[in-house]
Amino acid sequence: SRLANQIAAGEVVERPASVLKELLENALDAGSESINVDVEQGGVKLLRVRDNGHGIEREDLPLALSRHATSKIRGLDDLEAIGTLGFRGEALAAISSVSRLTLASNVEGEAEGWQVQVEGRDMAPTVTPAGHPRGTTVTMRDLFFNTPARRRFLRTEKTEFNHLEEVFRRIALSEFNTAFRLTHNQKVIHQLPAGLDDTLRAARVAKLCGKGFIEQAIPVDVERDGIRLHGWMGLPTFSRSQADLQYFYVNGRVIRDKVVNHAVRQAYADVLYHGRHPAYVLFLELDPAMVDVNVHPTKHEVRFREQRMVHGFLYSSLHRAIAEVRP
Ligand code: ADP
Ligand code: MG
Repeated sequence: SRLANQIAAGEVVERPASVLKELLENALDAGSESINVDVEQGGVKLLRVRDNGHGIEREDLPLALSRHATSKIRGLDDLEAIGTLGFRGEALAAISSVSRLTLASNVEGEAEGWQVQVEGRDMAPTVTPAGHPRGTTVTMRDLFFNTPARRRFLRTEKTEFNHLEEVFRRIALSEFNTAFRLTHNQKVIHQLPAGLDDTLRAARVAKLCGKGFIEQAIPVDVERDGIRLHGWMGLPTFSRSQADLQYFYVNGRVIRDKVVNHAVRQAYADVLYHGRHPAYVLFLELDPAMVDVNVHPTKHEVRFREQRMVHGFLYSSLHRAIAEVRP
């Protein structure tokens, strides 16, 4: 029902940035190699995500907008081994209940695409033809047009865009093999070509985190017993401005974790005598069986099966990398 969807929307849709997170995760789940994000007025007026992924079949389009419709869980086994990012099947339903939403898609091999359109109402969406190449475009307009109380909680265009850019940054740093583009009010903010080689990766980090970060950062790449840590460590700073530039990915998923924080801070502190606000972009890759990903998709939490071992590996790898540059 409309009410149930709007209640769900309260959890999923807080601001344009939370919508973007859901749409980008869907685009990545669809195996997209290229994702374009267009934003107008901080995402409140328009937020459009276009991908070239596997698309949605014509008959599945209305279904994609209904609550608990997910194509991503087929049985209990899947719940155990969630490989995709989104899995609750309620994001699109929730978003469509508080905005004007168009979902257009084309599955490879189809002559033309199809689209459905809803406007926050409990109506059965009708499917109409749409010229659309392979992939999917979700266009969200006028967020909270029918829930003015929510709309009042939105901040300035600039603040909302900063939140959007932060979501974009986190996800673009997790998928170097996908090209991304972000525009705001028709201006290109980020244009990131796809590629896994070192030069392209460094160029992407420079664009997303600033030249200043990458130029003084220490590259890290350590592998031991099937665990790999790679990325960049910046020097710690006492300025608050870089305090947020701390990205740690476990198997491609950004996380916040006490064990990780402690190991990183300690490694800095033991070489440099302080570990305040170090900036870093680090990727840990290990056997998925060695880590529990919290099934609540917004929490970014993990639990390592062998915390001491992970702590030790992080600490020694980072300590050595810093000591080599700053003995
Ligand atoms: P969930 O991602 O949890 O399954 P959503 O509400 O986010 O739920 O999406 C519902 C369904 O719509 C997905 O399961 C998927 O089948 C389809 N879908 C949504 N976005 C895309 C996309 N960009 N490409 C292909 N399929 C999509
Ligand atoms: Mg989803």
